[in-house]
Amino acid sequence: MSPKTKAKVAFFDFTSCEGCQIELTNLGEKAFMGLLDHIEIVEFREAMSEKAQGRIDISFIEGSFSREADRKRLEDIRSRSNVVIAFGACAATGGVTALKNHMSDYSEAVYGKDAKMPHLDSSFALPVSAAIKVDYSVLGCPMSQAEFVEIVSSLLHGKEPVIPNHPVCVECKKKSTLCRYGQGDHCLGMVARAGCGAPCPADGIPCEACRGFVDHPNQEALVKVLREKGGLSEERAFNKSRIFTANLRSDAVKGAGARKE
Ligand code: SF4
Ligand code: SF4
Ligand code: SF4
Repeated sequence: MSPKTKAKVAFFDFTSCEGCQIELTNLGEKAFMGLLDHIEIVEFREAMSEKAQGRIDISFIEGSFSREADRKRLEDIRSRSNVVIAFGACAATGGVTALKNHMSDYSEAVYGKDAKMPHLDSSFALPVSAAIKVDYSVLGCPMSQAEFVEIVSSLLHGKEPVIPNHPVCVECKKKSTLCRYGQGDHCLGMVARAGCGAPCPADGIPCEACRGFVDHPNQEALVKVLREKGGLSEERAFNKSRIFTANLRSDAVKGAGARKE
């Protein structure tokens, strides 16, 4: 990307709540206008009706890949984009949408009489990387604004973005936040991937690992701690441990692979 021309940036959504795109609009006027000094947004349906034509420098893809019918659209985006970035937990790992991969009876419970409508027909919720090559991921549910800015800034400056691979506990300790376990609570921070600044424990609530896990997490030990120190039942501890990581594959974060079913 030449520093003299603005990078063309587009946003696309798949199986998601669109909360990550909404989170972008929460960036604040000053930060958003500052970004527009360096990028040209060519598709972003939360705020404009125009569609991206031709080549795109950076495509952000929100939402998981859960319908075979979406593969062609994903491939088209990939073929037109210099860089593809998974935008938020659903796109990076499947996020909460992947919880349905472990359920057989969700459809009628969620959609009732509409459960059989054709547009609701889907299979496993997988990371976008299950369909196309993904270059980077902005993690979080919703996506981390700071990480979004960091990744865009790095790419515009020709630098490799750095995604942390240490646990949220480290950020918690740096802020001198009281540990939830000392307050009779539970927390997933010991295996959750840092980069958010540990806002949840600082606000008095447990980390739920919305940014996924660090590489090689010890999920078995996590469940044990949730049970023995957090006071959760075995079933609740196990379910908690995969709320945002139902497709547990750390390499999905790098876009290198995905669960194949
Ligand atoms: S990552 Fe969270 S906020 Fe973003 S689309 Fe998925 S569910 Fe919504
Ligand atoms: S509150 Fe959670 S993230 Fe913070 S130190 Fe305790 S376990 Fe780690
Ligand atoms: S503290 Fe945990 S749940 Fe909260 S934003 Fe960070 S990773 Fe997500």
